[in-house]
Amino acid sequence: MTQSARPIVRATPGRVMLLGSFVSFALQPAIGRTWADADETGGAPPVRIVVGFDGSCPHSPEGAKQEGPSRFRLLPSWRSSPGIDEEAVGRSTRLGFKVVNSGEAAVPVDLLIDWQYHDAPPKNRPSFASVEQYMSYRDFVVVRRPGRDDWLTVMADVTDSVAHVRLDALPGETEIHWHPPYNYTQSERFVESLREHPLVRVEKIGESPEKRNLWLLRITDASPRPKQGFLIRARVHPYESASSYCMEGMVRWLLSDDAYAADAMRRYVFHVIPMANPDGVHNGLGALTAPRGADVCYIPYEPDAVYAPLKRAVDQAKPAVAIDLHNWQNKHVDGLLGLDPTVRERFVRFMPDQLEFGKEWLIRDPRPLSPKIPEKELLRTYCERNFQSVAVTFEFPWFGRTPDDMRATGRRALWALLRALDPPPEGLR
Ligand SMILES: [Zn+2]
Repeated sequence: MTQSARPIVRATPGRVMLLGSFVSFALQPAIGRTWADADETGGAPPVRIVVGFDGSCPHSPEGAKQEGPSRFRLLPSWRSSPGIDEEAVGRSTRLGFKVVNSGEAAVPVDLLIDWQYHDAPPKNRPSFASVEQYMSYRDFVVVRRPGRDDWLTVMADVTDSVAHVRLDALPGETEIHWHPPYNYTQSERFVESLREHPLVRVEKIGESPEKRNLWLLRITDASPRPKQGFLIRARVHPYESASSYCMEGMVRWLLSDDAYAADAMRRYVFHVIPMANPDGVHNGLGALTAPRGADVCYIPYEPDAVYAPLKRAVDQAKPAVAIDLHNWQNKHVDGLLGLDPTVRERFVRFMPDQLEFGKEWLIRDPRPLSPKIPEKELLRTYCERNFQSVAVTFEFPWFGRTPDDMRATGRRALWALLRALDPPPEGLR
């Protein structure tokens, strides 16, 4: 059965409405009674799905369909208008919604997370070997129970490209995401927390198309000696919330009383872009700034309004070292991409495989720069070409890591890179 033949229904008070192109579906009443009947007689469980908050995906109730009294179908690739790339149907890399139980007892709920793999338009086919591989990254969600701060991993039963999550929804608000979220509000709070710090200068470098703040944090000590630029960029890709936690870990470490951090602050001015794509983060997107928007992981040589503030910040930093923070979907592999092999060899001595989280490094050596300057480049190659930077992209995937683990991973990666750049020991003096 193709995805388009799947039952998609939308709840309106007391009735079921069939939507859009999905009219071929006929709702099957359960034992002679539909959930809508139950609703009319006051017998339906008091659970509902809430979306539309900062960072939710789907971002509209149209992407969350009720199929029974406590059975819901979530469409992570619902977008406000037809999208491209990871914003196309069947390509989503984002998920986040709430189950609200307004009753007094736990209610068992069935959540069908419908990733719509087969509905991807031909030119936006997912680059996976099979639906099985695609879903091997999507067979779990993380759940925050009412009144709790921690995220619990819940495994799903997968059929084709639907992940079936069964939960007992406790009274109150249960939040469910693919990965632990880090939304725009959280980023604003983090930046705000640094505003009075004597070693941090918070600078607004621009606004997103939807008028959200683009910040640059300049972090260094007060010593007047000449220093080099060190660039850290997070969250060009909205679904990659790990990059935000890694960035937080790096910044908090720099501002800690650690001896190596103090040494680093003496030698570098750290330029941190904490959230490069706030619109995408807020609107529940996967990769772009809008459903048909820009992928700001690139630095174009002739930037438009979206790219201009980000490019300016990079050009002003003239970084001797640049870190681009990402998280890919792979469960078991950390990415160490583009770092010069001599530095990389030292780096992995200071930061070996994180086996405690089930991860091994996947290393990709840098390619020679193309002789012809392209229209746009990854941050890494842009910095290598224009500033002869030591530049690296990290990909730290979630599965098996908590937000605190991610902060520690970021801290460790920054420490290891700084150590790798120190001259090798020459023996005792
Ligand atoms: Zn990315």
